Amino acid sequence: MTLFEKIIAREIPAQIVYEDADCFAINDINPQAPVHVLIIPRKVIPRVGDATTADQSTLGALLLAAGKIAQQLGVSDGSKGFRLVINHGRDAGETVPHMHVHLLAGRELRWPPG
Ligand code: AMP
Repeated sequence: MTLFEKIIAREIPAQIVYEDADCFAINDINPQAPVHVLIIPRKVIPRVGDATTADQSTLGALLLAAGKIAQQLGVSDGSKGFRLVINHGRDAGETVPHMHVHLLAGRELRWPPG
């Protein structure tokens, strides 16, 4: 089981902030911004680059969930804003091989990213 499967199975504690049929979201244990949520598909896709057309609706569900969560957290209006990040592989800093979307907000985020 991946770390995130263990979390959704309640084998490892985490703050679950959102759940639907396709995905769930938790607060990141090592936040990089005042808001740092991970949106995770229930179906394990190791990396976004491994996804296939069979994963199309799962991938769409992650973005729709991100929009809802951002709205719930009050960061989706244009004067604030948020960033979504997906890390694939070593150079991107991926550490958990169960694809997930980082939602970062609550401070001004620099561009380009580090
Ligand atoms: P990535 O580096 O893109 O694979 O992202 C993995 C993320 O999972 C990192 O931001 C970690 O801080 C986070 N993380 C690792 N373990 C936990 C945990 N037990 N609960 C919540 N977040 C975690």
